[in-house]
Amino acid sequence: MPVSGLPPYDDQNIFARILRGEIPCRKVFEDEWALAFHDINPQAPIHVLVIPKGPYCSFADFSAAASAEEIAGFTRAVGKVARDLELESPGYRILANMGSHGGQEVPHFHVHLFGGRPLGRMVPTA
Ligand code: 5GP
Repeated sequence: MPVSGLPPYDDQNIFARILRGEIPCRKVFEDEWALAFHDINPQAPIHVLVIPKGPYCSFADFSAAASAEEIAGFTRAVGKVARDLELESPGYRILANMGSHGGQEVPHFHVHLFGGRPLGRMVPTA
């Protein structure tokens, strides 16, 4: 059920096409709820995207419309990918961009997972 006030989900977005197998990806992890793959334009030595399998365009959409099982499955997938990539001890960052001010390019909700070097603090101030 779409959440009111949010744009409709565009099923031609790149991540929807990756989920359907129409575009290849370098897969890191997949289960019933989530797919994780390397970003095509990495911003850190490790830059992985984790996406829920359902058609959600934003965190507001996902958090309101996904089932408890989907939310738990996606959240566990993010944690599993971080553990499997051995990022817990050196540390890492998770980030999700939303909408134009958030710099979101692909309108399928996703989490970026960055690691492999010190990442500095937070976001640019400018
Ligand atoms: P956003 O700005 O929406 O948070 O991030 C979208 C990310 O998707 C960007 O970091 C971009 O490099 C990545 N991306 C865009 N197209 C593709 C693609 O076809 N394959 C992969 N693996 N990543 C992509």
